[in-house]
Amino acid sequence: MEDAAAKPAGGATPVMAQYLDLKARHPDALLFFRMGDFYELFFDDAVRAAAALEIALTRRGQHAGEDIPMCGVPVATAEHYLAKLIRAGFRVAVGEQMEDPAEARRRGARSIVRRDVVRLVTPGTITEDALLEGRAANRLAAVGFAAGGAEAAIAWADVSTGDLAVMATSPARLGEDLAALAPREILAVDRELSRPDFAELAASGGVALTPLPAVKADPGGAEARLKAVFGVASLDAFGTFSRAELSALGLLVDYVTLTQAGGSPHLRPPRRREAGQHMAIDPATRASLEIDRTQRGERAGSLLAAIDRTVTSAGARLLADRLARPLVDVAAIEERLDSVAYFVDDPDLCDSVRRELSTAGDLARAVSRVALRRAHPRDLAAIRTTLEAGDRAVSRLGARGLQDAPAELGAAARDLLLAGNPELQAVCLDLARALAGELPAAARDGGFIAAGFDPVLDETRALRDDARRIVAGLQADYAQETGLALKIRHNNVLGYHIEASARHGETLLQPPWNARFIHRQTLPQAVRFTTEALADLDRRIARAGDEALARELALFEAFCSRISAASQGLLAAAEALATLDVAAGVAAWALQTGAARPQLDAGFGFHAEGARHPVVEQALKAKGEGFTANDCRLDGAGSTGARLVILTGPNMAGKSTYLRQNALLLILAQAGLFVPAAAFRAGVADRVFSRVGAGDDLARGRSTFMAEMIETAAILTQAGPRAFVILDEIGRGTATYDGLAIAWATAEHLHDVNRARALFATHCHELTALADRLAACANASLRAREWRGDLVFLHEVCPGPADRSYGIQVAKLAGLPAAAVVRAQEVLRRLESRGRQGQSAAELPLFQVLAAEPDPAPALTTSGIEALLRDIDPDGLTPREALDLIFRLKTMLSQSDAGQAGGGVLRQSAARGPDVKTPPS
Ligand code: ATP
Repeated sequence: MEDAAAKPAGGATPVMAQYLDLKARHPDALLFFRMGDFYELFFDDAVRAAAALEIALTRRGQHAGEDIPMCGVPVATAEHYLAKLIRAGFRVAVGEQMEDPAEARRRGARSIVRRDVVRLVTPGTITEDALLEGRAANRLAAVGFAAGGAEAAIAWADVSTGDLAVMATSPARLGEDLAALAPREILAVDRELSRPDFAELAASGGVALTPLPAVKADPGGAEARLKAVFGVASLDAFGTFSRAELSALGLLVDYVTLTQAGGSPHLRPPRRREAGQHMAIDPATRASLEIDRTQRGERAGSLLAAIDRTVTSAGARLLADRLARPLVDVAAIEERLDSVAYFVDDPDLCDSVRRELSTAGDLARAVSRVALRRAHPRDLAAIRTTLEAGDRAVSRLGARGLQDAPAELGAAARDLLLAGNPELQAVCLDLARALAGELPAAARDGGFIAAGFDPVLDETRALRDDARRIVAGLQADYAQETGLALKIRHNNVLGYHIEASARHGETLLQPPWNARFIHRQTLPQAVRFTTEALADLDRRIARAGDEALARELALFEAFCSRISAASQGLLAAAEALATLDVAAGVAAWALQTGAARPQLDAGFGFHAEGARHPVVEQALKAKGEGFTANDCRLDGAGSTGARLVILTGPNMAGKSTYLRQNALLLILAQAGLFVPAAAFRAGVADRVFSRVGAGDDLARGRSTFMAEMIETAAILTQAGPRAFVILDEIGRGTATYDGLAIAWATAEHLHDVNRARALFATHCHELTALADRLAACANASLRAREWRGDLVFLHEVCPGPADRSYGIQVAKLAGLPAAAVVRAQEVLRRLESRGRQGQSAAELPLFQVLAAEPDPAPALTTSGIEALLRDIDPDGLTPREALDLIFRLKTMLSQSDAGQAGGGVLRQSAARGPDVKTPPS
């Protein structure tokens, strides 16, 4: 047995030198160094891995005068440890023995086993089931730039399924597009990784950033590499790629090849996705709407978890992908909706298809493991059962007649029906005959090929079993002959041997028995022997066993080659099965919850009737409580409804819920899913923005207010007339007047400049005045009633502004000490009475300025504005002064407006609300 560390023979032992050489080639990965049945780790790797894995750290031998720290994990259970290390953010280089130790010995006593790194395991390139999350994609993304950073592209792959795609984007949209893909690992040229987009993603957690040298991103080199990997003379067949796209693809394919240690990367040819096909959702909006995970990073409690009724892993991944990247093309959305509607119209069919699909395995991942020569017999079984399940599911569809099935389902059926795919059918039939009922975890354990499938294997097994029967007979013969209680046993060291008690062993060591019984081993309690006949049988059994295993492995390899050759059809079947599962799963959810088919068009309307928030509704249902459905009507053009609705109402009344549910309706609809509403019609949105709730972003060094302002700034600079915006409590994290001023200006900007459909929730009741001033702005409110001193939330959205916030009642509900509640009520009474006495001017300078104060600013004449502007020293202005200035300019403008309208006094809003549901009395 080699010893890596025992002899410091004036430097490193040969094995240690070999270790150091491999480690030098993978300095940023933990090196798993195979030694017999263990992967050993040394030096700093051992210290870090032992801590992460909570295993014992030992010391062994010395290197450069220091003890060598060491730890190890058994090869048989290595996947489990790998999973833990990858989750903890490590990369692992797997150094394998490349030859049998016996071969090394044949080269000379001092020879060591050849070893090499066969694989680099990184978060974005894993393929093992134990390491992967079944219901989530495991994407690796690479970002390429061109034109001096003015153009950008993202290439992404899921190595576990072989998917590869590329899309042009812009540097401005990079963050959004990456967030939509939610990669586990991002590759980019080292100097680019300092861009804020990457930092944002890294800070949000769960993504590893891997820097690569710039030379790998060269488009020319990338093109050559892609041609070599896909075996084509030109890439034209896959599309025309820009320089940025080539650069991204080159980085990605090169890295995947590197992690497979030069082996074939098993990726399908790249699919080119057109830019701008998807609704843009920036990372902050994605997080605040809790689309695929909650703000705490959990899947449970997200929109995805609430609607996911898929029964296969591939279906779950496709649904997550659709929800993460809703479409903007109405025809493509309709195609998806047609499939869901087909199942909603036939609940029995939906049920039976889902039942059939529920027996399916993970076809794409099994096929990938086969292609990467990492498969187990259970992967072959999964391929077979999944193909059969898909075939049965499609046969159910066929029973209704496929000619009237929607296009998406018809195409899926063609890929899944075995009768129409002879190659897959043959693989399936042969696997059904070949595989045994009980399968071992690994092919090297043998015993996975069923009897009767292969005559050669059957014959070898018969020989082995025959010999075993003779061995069993020998035990009886020896016992009878000697008159001693002897047992024939087997272990890996001695093979078959005769075991006698210590006393009987003494007898056998004496003549005449010692002529036949050959001594092998003496233990405290037993003595072990063999005989020539038994040794011969042992050899025959071992040889037959080896031959049977070799035969099984050859059959396994043959199946793997056949599956790899059929991988195109198999992966198409895997996609078809996922499509079927998503359509039936969404239909099942729609049937359970009363979700409706949305109607989408190219207009600017937004009309929801009886809509609910799917997650809140589900949570309330679990508590036995009901959800109050609400309507919402907006019109971006401002003709049939308001473009901007100011939503007021008491704390806890349901404002945030209402805002979110409307944004979620659009996302669900454009993802091609049904919506939790009685009816929903809307013009497609190109972006959804959400600024809901205040939260510190201390990880990125931003206070609550700063984070809020950055997100608000992004909305005001990016939202166009096709956008849909929800804003909650803007300006709450600063002084009252600053906050009010910012909220006011933001609402005006949204209405006048962005012209996006927007819902704006606020506790600043002063903002309700905007409904009177802005042409396409209306008020809506959530109502609560006081009943016997308690607050009753009605959760109903009504036209018009709310009267008050009931903040103190909510504080009381929350358990604020009675003395504090009483004191707060007293303070509020005083403040309100000051307000009634006209002393509220100081509280509301905005109104004061607008309503009563003589305007200190120059009159609204060109010369007045000019005078004001000329006096500005931009470099000397504080942000606060700049804001004040904007207000002065605005004030001048509004006074002029008011003057022209013959008024000039800003009134509290009249009850001109949006077209929202009238609450029952
Ligand atoms: P605050 O102003 O204090 O932030 P809010 O008005 O935004 O409060 P939400 O957070 O939306 O209120 O809702 C508070 C709770 O009210 C929710 O957690 C939910 O349990 C319940 N709720 C909200 N909307 C509804 C509804 N339409 N039907 C039933 N319950 C609702």
